[in-house]
Amino acid sequence: MNWNELEKELIAIRRDLHRYPESAWTEFRTASLVAERLSRMGWDLTVGPDTVELSAVMGRPSEEEIDAHIARAREQGGNPEWIDRMRRYPGIVATLRTGRPGPVVSLRFDMDCVDVDEDRENQNHRPRKEGFASVNNNLMHSCGHDAHTAIGLGVAQVLMEQKDSLHLNGEIRLIFQPGEEGCRGAYAMTEKGVVDGSDYFLAMHIGGGVPSGVFGINSLGYLSTTKFDATFTGRPAHAAGAPHEGRNALLAAASAALALHGIAPHRDGAMRVNVGVLNAGTGRNVIAAQAVMKVETRGENQEIADYVYERAQEILQGAATMYGAEVSVVKTGAGTTAFGDAELVALAGEAVRELGCFTSVQETAKGGGSEDATWMMRRVQERGGQATYLALGSDITAPHHNGSFDLDESSMVLGVRALDAIVRKLVGR
Ligand SMILES: [Zn+2]
Ligand SMILES: [Zn+2]
Repeated sequence: MNWNELEKELIAIRRDLHRYPESAWTEFRTASLVAERLSRMGWDLTVGPDTVELSAVMGRPSEEEIDAHIARAREQGGNPEWIDRMRRYPGIVATLRTGRPGPVVSLRFDMDCVDVDEDRENQNHRPRKEGFASVNNNLMHSCGHDAHTAIGLGVAQVLMEQKDSLHLNGEIRLIFQPGEEGCRGAYAMTEKGVVDGSDYFLAMHIGGGVPSGVFGINSLGYLSTTKFDATFTGRPAHAAGAPHEGRNALLAAASAALALHGIAPHRDGAMRVNVGVLNAGTGRNVIAAQAVMKVETRGENQEIADYVYERAQEILQGAATMYGAEVSVVKTGAGTTAFGDAELVALAGEAVRELGCFTSVQETAKGGGSEDATWMMRRVQERGGQATYLALGSDITAPHHNGSFDLDESSMVLGVRALDAIVRKLVGR
């Protein structure tokens, strides 16, 4: 394998994806171009609703919005044939069956961007300076999933090209997931069974506070989380003429917001709650009849996460009752906690150390974030397989989800080499 050639190609792919970012469940341009490349390489593809359990989908835009995103994907150079084949759900599972007995290894790559505007001021921001900054307003690859997608394609190419000479056994599955941000996509793919039958499962994140040259074989500390929208419904009335006839949804929501942030901490570990958005009311002289609140709760383990989520539901109901309003809750995303299996972690460490292209191979702490590949890890582990979450070190210019975020592009080819080495350790002979 000519790694220098591959590195150039990965950078070109990443920059193209960076220029045309798409957020959760709208990755039609991205997924269609990924599918086009994978099928050209000879991977066997399953796409769209065949990779997503529709009843388990969380946080997907309305059908009208999806129409608009599909139209934009076509305008921006998506592959029209593959966009059609996605049937409105941009998920892909690519399979390589060697025809020889052996384990099933699944890898997950996420494709979505973040809802943030890319830096327009700083002319030293490389995507701006070198002409690949986002052209889609308020959308930006500021978490590095453009690099993840490029790495996934690199892994696909490397494995396929060396398929026969390496004598791979068993089966390799590459899962290209929509909607990791907000923990919206992995659960529905897991429910559809995309990781079922896997003996090994790997997911990886670039950056995340881990510097270039370091490779994490067991990334710890993802918080279990639930994201939800709470809608309060009251009754409108004239604010001076008949205030007693109103039922104030705004005050119910405001009371709930304060109480949510006052949930007692849990003795056993970290928890978080955040009311990130609160919109209410229609007019200055009207008792507000509607309020919508976007909330997330998190816990260091599932028990703590359940504790904070359940207290939150009590507070929402209680606040609604106080003002004679009603509240309904819709889950928009969820992730669980995860741990790496010791045997697989050790094996991955051995494979990556043997490569000799990282200065340090170690366990790393993520600390504070959430990640929905944890659903896939948990499913594989529950069924007797092994899983681990990897960290690909990369120096970043600003925190993740910030408009000035950029990464060290030379990390990408190292990520491909690491995954290739681990997969070969598992299914090579
Ligand atoms: Zn992110
Ligand atoms: Zn991310």
